Amino acid sequence: MGAKYTIGTIASHSALQILKGAKEEGFNSLLIATPEREKFYRRFKLADDYLVVDNWKDVLSEKVQDELNQKNTIIIPHGSFVEYVGAKELLDFDVPMFGNKAVLEWESDRRKEREWFVKAGVGTPENFNDPSEIDRLTLVKYFGAKGGKGYALVENEEDFYRQFKEFDPEKMQMQEYILGTRSYPHFFYSPLDKENELVGIDLRYESNADGLPRIPTPHYMPPTYVVTGNIPIVLRESLLPRVFDMADSIIKTSKKLFNPGLIGPYSLEMVITDELKFYVFEISARIVGGTNAWIPGSPYTYLKYGENISMGRRIAMEIKRAVNENKLDEVII
Ligand code: AMP
Repeated sequence: MGAKYTIGTIASHSALQILKGAKEEGFNSLLIATPEREKFYRRFKLADDYLVVDNWKDVLSEKVQDELNQKNTIIIPHGSFVEYVGAKELLDFDVPMFGNKAVLEWESDRRKEREWFVKAGVGTPENFNDPSEIDRLTLVKYFGAKGGKGYALVENEEDFYRQFKEFDPEKMQMQEYILGTRSYPHFFYSPLDKENELVGIDLRYESNADGLPRIPTPHYMPPTYVVTGNIPIVLRESLLPRVFDMADSIIKTSKKLFNPGLIGPYSLEMVITDELKFYVFEISARIVGGTNAWIPGSPYTYLKYGENISMGRRIAMEIKRAVNENKLDEVII
């Protein structure tokens, strides 16, 4: 690499593996942290530099942006980054950010996500536009990466109004509940290789949905979906070609919807039924927390590379290649 670049992110979510991957590929690493978080992250000794802010919105200040640019920083956005700083606000963020910023608008609005799935022809659960339409078990969810907070299962309109005051289409989604097993494959789309790579697969460990089977049936309690961790999984090998087909279609459609489309890490969140039907219920169009379960690498990255490649490292590898081939404008849009 010629000029020294810095890979930076904010102190949450998947920051540890992003910093580790940056170091492994020879970059400087920088962490933007609040004073409380700095102490925790320093324990891992992965950041060369710390930029301490009082609150996350300060990331958007001219002072912070100038400092990041002086250090030749490329920011890696993750779920908390987008959630804390704001998808709209990030559009005005004047520091190079890995990936295509246009995707933020598509992944932060569940109506747009659904349009993307339908156009890509991937199976997706039914959606209801008004509580009066609910005719089956339905999950009420909020937009954005809120870690499942506030979600609830409802049976019908009456049940909806028992649990929620009103339906706000700008913030909420009512989605058919699909019974089956969950699978959250993590992909990396490389614009330089023009290839979709499977980097790992996880399940979210959710409280109380995953705790409920531990209590006997007479004690009914409604499930909740607050993410507390992630469990690494692998899929039956015979199902993988279909997962790749869906991912290829998602990428092809993204190019039509917001040229040049989705770049880098993303995850398709899906349920697979006992008839082996796939229902994609969400896309996270950046590095997801579940990739933390596959540090230092997954079976799939081992099969492809013969060494340990986490998602954090895979991102750094793409940036390094783009720097060396003078193609940064293909990975930072
Ligand atoms: P989300 O915020 O869309 O990722 O949803 C949070 C959690 O709710 C998921 O990790 C699943 O456990 C569950 N979930 C979401 N949508 C569905 C669905 N349509 N059918 C079944 N489970 C779902």
